Amino acid sequence: MDPRFTVTSGGNLRCKGWRQEGILRLLENVLAVGEDPANLVVYAALGKAARDWPSHDKIVETLRTMDETETLIVQSGKPIGLIKTHEKAPIVILANCNMVGQWAKAENFYKWQQQNLICWGGLTAGDWQYIGSQGVIQGTYEIFMRIAERHFGGDLAGRFILTAGLGGMGGAQPLAGFMAGAVILCVEIDPERIAKRMANGFLRERADNLDAALAMVRDAMAQYRPASIGLLGNAAEVYEQILARGVIPDVVTDQTSAHDLVYGYVPVGRSLPEVRRMRVEDPATLMTESRASIVRHVRAMLGLKAAGAVVFDNGNLIRTQAREGGVEDAFDIPIFTEAFLRPLFARAIGPFRWIALANDPDDIRKIDDHLLVAFPDNRIVTNWVKLAREHVPFEGLPARIAWLGHGERTALALAVNRMVREGKLSGPIAFTRDHLDAGAMAHPNIMTENMRDGSDAIADWPLLDAMAMCASQADLVAIHSGGGGYAGYMTSAGVTIVADGSIEAAERLQLALTNDTSLGVMRYADAGYPEALDEAERKGVRHFRLGEG
Ligand code: NAD
Repeated sequence: MDPRFTVTSGGNLRCKGWRQEGILRLLENVLAVGEDPANLVVYAALGKAARDWPSHDKIVETLRTMDETETLIVQSGKPIGLIKTHEKAPIVILANCNMVGQWAKAENFYKWQQQNLICWGGLTAGDWQYIGSQGVIQGTYEIFMRIAERHFGGDLAGRFILTAGLGGMGGAQPLAGFMAGAVILCVEIDPERIAKRMANGFLRERADNLDAALAMVRDAMAQYRPASIGLLGNAAEVYEQILARGVIPDVVTDQTSAHDLVYGYVPVGRSLPEVRRMRVEDPATLMTESRASIVRHVRAMLGLKAAGAVVFDNGNLIRTQAREGGVEDAFDIPIFTEAFLRPLFARAIGPFRWIALANDPDDIRKIDDHLLVAFPDNRIVTNWVKLAREHVPFEGLPARIAWLGHGERTALALAVNRMVREGKLSGPIAFTRDHLDAGAMAHPNIMTENMRDGSDAIADWPLLDAMAMCASQADLVAIHSGGGGYAGYMTSAGVTIVADGSIEAAERLQLALTNDTSLGVMRYADAGYPEALDEAERKGVRHFRLGEG
């Protein structure tokens, strides 16, 4: 096994301190669980851990040798240099794929990527926070459960979910659907992705053709038995066929990499080897064909919606691509954030995560136990932790995700830091979160679509968040913008803090985690969301309400 793609275990330091060591282990981890580590690709088709291998190797060498009073600067996956700072400053700051407004276009991104001037960090790839498919699983599960409550009397038993894409993030869908009690059919064009999700326990069964798949779906539905079934095929074609047969699923979505017409989506009629060749030799034709297929794909989704399915966009820009291809009603499909998660984000409740840096799964189990005792009245968290510990396999360094909010994240992290200090865990724990979080993302077709005050495309919030994190002693702070098909569509901020048991770590966790969610509450309060105004009032977030009495 290539040592660059394996995780390090135990308590031995290779760096001068746990802050650097923790970040190094997270970098190793994103490659260990990534989709195409040989090319540094972690997920979402092109989301990379570093610009190239020399950049990667220099980052590793620097983390191993730098002092705590220095800060490593990374520009689009390339380490630029070290600056002298102080022990309360971040160990690493990163700016990945930020292009000036009028230039932020997919064509420029591809050109500059070829000239080795830029690379895309995805959300959590380029700042080493990715934890495998588990990273989005609770979000996907909560969406399914909100749909269950809203449309199916609170229960998905005997219900059929149709989706596609079993990549880094999409791979969470079969397990999330299974955990929600549904029968979920996942269409995927790459047999290796189906095999990977079956091997790591996220997908249970596979079908060889649509007839067999639908028979398995019917069988499981009739028995009210949860099931996850992978089907090899092109989603645009399969969705059309399902619609043509008059089989109407209860819920339909999609998580192919539709955001990227060159490196992500596979058009109808093309094999994977052909697509890989066209990416190099004829990207223009590939773009045209991908868009034409997405048009068919979304028309089929709209047809299923018209026939009664609950259809939603799962954050892959598929509606935007279809609308540019002429599907004027593509946005009749709602986005998952606005439809299901905004009331949570308005209280800064979002996908918080922690990772056991010594690679001991028991550390995560002990934190699970603590959570169940510390938050007995938080139904979302207790339900999730009980389910996750039973169903969600660890990939790479053991990790857990749980949707926690303002104050809760800080309380958990401080308790865990104490557990590290008292020797109750095998080693330090890193705390981080998805970029898709209350104060951390401007993404007008995904996270911030239809904001109450019309502030969908205002990117000040993630920039303020990153600056606030630098001022709050976080260990790693990143500003990311979209690359490939996401170019010009988004800006987000990432943050990581290592709980090594020290008093200094407690101060960092207290400041960074509290201020991160404070900003999240302020962002939604500023937009006029009543949940955020209530949260600010109840929890003492010092948000200014200008222009009122
Ligand atoms: P990925 O590139 O790892 O996987 C995409 C998968 O889609 C691949 O396995 C690919 O083979 C498959 N695919 C492509 N075209 C297909 C087609 N026509 N038919 C069937 N399968 C096809 O990407 P990922 O990390 O899984 O992310 C998927 C999408 O979800 C991306 O657009 C990403 O940006 C988005 N995303 C959304 C969220 C969220 O919070 N909802 C989070 C992360 C990523």
